[in-house]
Amino acid sequence: MISLLSARIRGLLVSFCLSTGLLCVSPAVHAQEKPLLIEKINPKLYLYTTFNTFDGTKYAANAVYLITKKGVILFDTPWDSTQYQPLLDSIKQKHNLPVIAVYATHWHEDRAGGFAYYNHIGIPTYATKMTNDLLKANHKAQAAHLVDLNKTYKIGGQSFVLNFFSPGHSMDNVVIWFPEYKILDGGCFIKSSEAQDLGFTADGDVKSWKPSLARLLTKYPQINMVIPGHDAWKDNGQIKRTEALLTEKK
Ligand SMILES: [Zn+2]
Repeated sequence: MISLLSARIRGLLVSFCLSTGLLCVSPAVHAQEKPLLIEKINPKLYLYTTFNTFDGTKYAANAVYLITKKGVILFDTPWDSTQYQPLLDSIKQKHNLPVIAVYATHWHEDRAGGFAYYNHIGIPTYATKMTNDLLKANHKAQAAHLVDLNKTYKIGGQSFVLNFFSPGHSMDNVVIWFPEYKILDGGCFIKSSEAQDLGFTADGDVKSWKPSLARLLTKYPQINMVIPGHDAWKDNGQIKRTEALLTEKK
């Protein structure tokens, strides 16, 4: 309904532009064509989206970055390799800060694909031992540093925790918890409220995913916002949708 309506508005805009001879660009069309979107979650936490094609369908990948007094910390690299450097440039332009660290939530291309690039230009990269082992086994660039799970990292006045609740989407999927904001960056462990299926699960363990999610909810009983790895993220239905998809799968 919404897309029908916006398509109609766009059509009206185009005919208005044509009849008046003005140069108009519909912002909705324009926004969809941008390869990198950056949106504010709160004054310290931003979400960025890049796009890629999988099995002929275009998908959006969500990732976040945290503004600290010491610089910006990326949680996951862009999925689109043409955006590794533009993301750094956009952050520099927007916040006048360098990116000082890059963490990955699992070993796949949409999370750790930029490690080779960031290692090459000297930005410290971080992952769990599990993720690094999988990267190595799959002949991909590994993180330069290992992270501890369930440890509160405090950097430049901000804090975050990486946690692993057992396999799901992948064998190594971790989530990022921002304790001050009670925001969970679920990565691919959490599906969007609009997800139609569990997506790519060939590298994961669907059976252990549901008990793993239950453990996460026991650890974090109160969550203000959940960021899924892909697609819509602004509503509150991500956990429920992930549980429903995992129940269907049984
Ligand atoms: Zn993945």
